[in-house]
Amino acid sequence: MHADILFRGGNIIDGTGAPRQSVDLAVTDDRIVATGDLSRWTAGRVIDCTGRIVAPGFIDPHVHHDEVVLTDPGMDCMLSQGVTTIINGNCGFSIAPLTATGPLPQPLGMVLSDDMPRFASYAAYRDRLRADPPAVNSACLIGHGTLRINEVADLDRPADRAETAAMVRALDRALSEGGIGLSTGPFYPPARAATTQELIEMARVAQAHGRLYVTHMRDEGDQVIEALEETFQIGRDACCGVHVSHHKCAGLANHGLSETTLAMIDQARKLQDVGLDTTPWTASSTMLNSGRHRQASRVIVAESVPYPEMAGRDLSDIAAEWGTDIDSAMERLLPATGIFFIMDETDVRRILAYEHTIICSDGIARGSHPHPRVWGTFPRVLGHYVRDTGVFDLETGIKRMTSMPADRFGLQDRGRIAKGMYADLVVFDAASIREGNDYTHPTRPAEGIDLVFVNGRESWCAGGHTGARAGAVL
Ligand SMILES: [Zn+2]
Repeated sequence: MHADILFRGGNIIDGTGAPRQSVDLAVTDDRIVATGDLSRWTAGRVIDCTGRIVAPGFIDPHVHHDEVVLTDPGMDCMLSQGVTTIINGNCGFSIAPLTATGPLPQPLGMVLSDDMPRFASYAAYRDRLRADPPAVNSACLIGHGTLRINEVADLDRPADRAETAAMVRALDRALSEGGIGLSTGPFYPPARAATTQELIEMARVAQAHGRLYVTHMRDEGDQVIEALEETFQIGRDACCGVHVSHHKCAGLANHGLSETTLAMIDQARKLQDVGLDTTPWTASSTMLNSGRHRQASRVIVAESVPYPEMAGRDLSDIAAEWGTDIDSAMERLLPATGIFFIMDETDVRRILAYEHTIICSDGIARGSHPHPRVWGTFPRVLGHYVRDTGVFDLETGIKRMTSMPADRFGLQDRGRIAKGMYADLVVFDAASIREGNDYTHPTRPAEGIDLVFVNGRESWCAGGHTGARAGAVL
């Protein structure tokens, strides 16, 4: 038997949670064609994987790279950490369908530049990605916030009947064109005035397409309990699966609350479909605003439009240098994004360890000083949390980055190593894998990742991009 590529001598972790096996793996074209003892096989190329783990490429179900896949299609920030598939359009803000003209309200303006072409339909965006593919596979949720910006005349009030009907039609069309679900972000100003009923109307459309309601909930701090209850209600009333994005308990007063929130999720799961993902960091990253900075023990400026030179600096240092208070300094920096130290390590571990939690980066790659999660999330879990801390074993860690997100979001033939699956693969060293970055040097690539294949194409090798851009639109 003959294959294009043989991976010999590695320890294969197949993504299901099953224990690693020392077997060979054969790839032809874009698919895995065999695993097992392939000593009698020949191949165009043989890769010696002795002492290495071979795993399915990681799937990041929560990123904000809607525009980055077009403007920086090499996607080094994802490939370098072993990620081969991403899901865009999160937190209610998708790049498409966008029919609104003029400047975009935040946070859509954080994800999409004013000078970028706008895609009036999801199909137009999808076709553009197919014509000029990035280096990773990508799927996209359709954002309720974006639909609101298109259809609702005044964002500070609930949608009226005609506006809701227009959003329903637009969502239905975008899901027909390949959007993989609905995202909402009632936390953010353009969607804050949306009533629970408005969100239920949207969720009904997702349900009709067999897709999920994925949400950056109305609150992740003092009102996180109420926000969870609202999310469950939306799922029940629309008979729709709900997925809580980047679950956290933000703010000093709420540290420890994950014990309660996870118990609530566990209870709800007995009655309805509820899932969640999280990031392995105690700092969050979003628009700079006073509500958040008051809850944080420290704030780093990630990006400021009027003061780009302030990226990477502490908000309190900037205020001291300007001889002003924190609020005034923040106002001067806007529009801006920040990194907020608002979570407790015990909560981060407890949420990670919960058996239904999927790993995500929640990456926003813009600006010179992003949150380190953009480049380091997956190696951080496999290094810090698996090897150094023992939150779970390596097989479990990989399952939460591969088969679990693939199953949750309906990504077919991805997330597992088995005959017939797409050859999205990562080869790494379990002893040395770690994030290579920190809050001071956030864009340094991860360590310990040897090889990354996307659809059978070698895309990352020995710390560098091969130039391949084999990403499919899922
Ligand atoms: Zn979010």
